[in-house]
Amino acid sequence: MGRIAEEYGTLVFNDHTMQELLPSATYKALAKTIKQGKPLDIEVANVVAHAMKEWAVAHGATHYTHWFQPLSGITSEKHDAFVNPQKDGRAIMTFSGKALIQGEPDASSFPSGGVRATFEARGYTAWDPTSYAFIKDEVLCIPTAFCSYTGEALDKKTPLLRSMEAVSQQACKVLGFFGQDVPRVTTTVGAEQEYFLIKESDYEQRQDLILTGRTLFGAPPCKGQEMEEHYFGAIRPTVNEFMKELDEELWKLGVSAKTKHNEVAPCQHELAPMFTISNVAIDHNLLTMELMRKIASRHGLVCLQHEKPFVGINGSGKHNNWSIATDSENLLDPGKTPASNLRFLVFLAAVVQAVDDYQDLLRITVASAGNDHRLGANEAPPAVISMFLGDELDRVVSAIISGEKGETVEAVYMDLGVKVLPSFERDNTDRNRTSPFAFTGNKFEFRMPGSQINLADANTILNTIVAKSLKCFCEAVEGAEDFEKAAYKWVRTTLTDHQRIIFNGDGYTDEWIAEAEARGLMNLKSTVDAAPHMLDPKNVALFEEFGVLNEVENRSRYEVKLDTYSKLINIEGQTMSHMTKRKIAPAVSAYAEHIAATINAKKQANPALEPKADLKLLDKLNEGANGISDALEVLDAALEKAQGTDETLAKARAYHDEVLAAMERLRAVCDAMEGIVSTEAWPLPTYNKILFYC
Ligand code: ADP
Ligand code: MG
Repeated sequence: MGRIAEEYGTLVFNDHTMQELLPSATYKALAKTIKQGKPLDIEVANVVAHAMKEWAVAHGATHYTHWFQPLSGITSEKHDAFVNPQKDGRAIMTFSGKALIQGEPDASSFPSGGVRATFEARGYTAWDPTSYAFIKDEVLCIPTAFCSYTGEALDKKTPLLRSMEAVSQQACKVLGFFGQDVPRVTTTVGAEQEYFLIKESDYEQRQDLILTGRTLFGAPPCKGQEMEEHYFGAIRPTVNEFMKELDEELWKLGVSAKTKHNEVAPCQHELAPMFTISNVAIDHNLLTMELMRKIASRHGLVCLQHEKPFVGINGSGKHNNWSIATDSENLLDPGKTPASNLRFLVFLAAVVQAVDDYQDLLRITVASAGNDHRLGANEAPPAVISMFLGDELDRVVSAIISGEKGETVEAVYMDLGVKVLPSFERDNTDRNRTSPFAFTGNKFEFRMPGSQINLADANTILNTIVAKSLKCFCEAVEGAEDFEKAAYKWVRTTLTDHQRIIFNGDGYTDEWIAEAEARGLMNLKSTVDAAPHMLDPKNVALFEEFGVLNEVENRSRYEVKLDTYSKLINIEGQTMSHMTKRKIAPAVSAYAEHIAATINAKKQANPALEPKADLKLLDKLNEGANGISDALEVLDAALEKAQGTDETLAKARAYHDEVLAAMERLRAVCDAMEGIVSTEAWPLPTYNKILFYC
């Protein structure tokens, strides 16, 4: 076996390790919990904890942590040592079943959107045994869910697990109608992560990058991405070294990093793993992001995961490939026989209905201050949600909708002159990159998520809305005399009713946006436009119906989303104001002084000289300095007003409408000065320097 195969998963307490280290009765009990979601008995947990600790200590671990995902979206951990001092002065290493199953972090400083008052500091973390424990930096990390003292979910993982359960229940019921007795259906995710790598030495000189993750100033570089040479281009040696180390570290953690390549923008790259079960894929994506940041610093680089680090250059997304499967079959695989085609069509129609009925919810899952710069900016999907099915599938759907004689699937295919649905070539369905939600042969690719977000939200919604349409299907065919006929009728009615969401054209054009409006599709342009829909009665009811979020939990997520938005823009506005006052305005003045001195010196040397160019430049610098001062005043006033606004939505609106607008104006005048101040006098590394290093 090669070194890589030998090292793969060595830092994971995975199935293989469990089989090897656990007594067989314990292994079987744990496997039941993992596969069927059965609660874990404390005796079993004690045995598992002991084995886990022995294994972890043998691999150099000294501490353990419950690794969880609070509403900030990033992961949190608090390390506890295994070491347990004894009366005789020695120490032993211990880890109990109770400590494995449940933790009690002081939860007071995590966002809760008002669910938990800060004086009630108690929160609970509970082990998610379906996601394997792993060792990171000598710490045994146990993936956990995080709840308040009163039982409300305070994290991203809990609703995701609930939604997986909801969709599993409904999908199993659907399969029951097809004569398939399946105990569990799982949703799968493959997350393609985009990111930028820049030099640490440039990063360190830019307070905006350090504090906000994006450049708040910067004139366009002389060369952008117009030569289209970066995508799939040869990878820089430094970056190559980084990628190699990243792959190896990820493999040890059982993260199956598979594909890596350069992306469209200079300095932009992508990593795609092999897909896996949703909650694990999301844990893995968060681990990947963390390792990217850490490993970059070992190579003198910084990994930028913001959605839009550079204006005028493509931003970064995170495509969420999603499917639904039994132990042995992908239910979105069209298959080759009409019978399995009917099942495929039911799942397809269910997704179509789900996406159309809950466009707002899907849009909300990708709404953030960072992603607002991407969606609709002609490089990422527009803010309008639509679905791309590809030509072949679209023909089938159209035939189903229009086929008057088509009482059965077979009949429709007869009408089309084909007996079976063509088996899709994965590769020729996926060439519409402008669609937010594309069918790509045997899965859907949701392309709106931003590079920085936790995909738990998007998948929680996807699973829940599909559970809802599968439930509608079950209700429609329940008790039908002829199941196939009833199922086919439901497919046809559903596709007909939700046809408006299907769009196979270019999503970047203005014509599409106008047409989408005519079709009645939603165009929620920004986070502040989208977020209020979280509280729409139909959405609140959906979460309650499937036990995914109760009203309090949903409300808290709304509060946190807008609060986070306001806080981020506030930090950006303040950083901008600070950098203008301390760096840019002084640089422009100093350069003006230098030019004025040059003019005087020239005149002194030869009074007959007419330093026209210098005078013109001085004039422009003076005008720029005045423009900067005016724009700065407007920004400071906008910040003060937004800071003084109390109500959550009104505050976020103030940041969106006034602070962001003031920031844009200030940026424009500062960037214009960058173009005329000498390189030596400009206080920040420019786009030209940052984006084109060797
Ligand atoms: P592209 O760049 O064309 O979108 P990639 O090959 O880079 O394609 O990424 C495809 C992603 O989709 C991978 O992460 C892959 O594992 C994932 N994927 C493939 N099949 C499924 C599936 N059934 N469910 C979820 N994700 C899937
Ligand atoms: Mg993709």
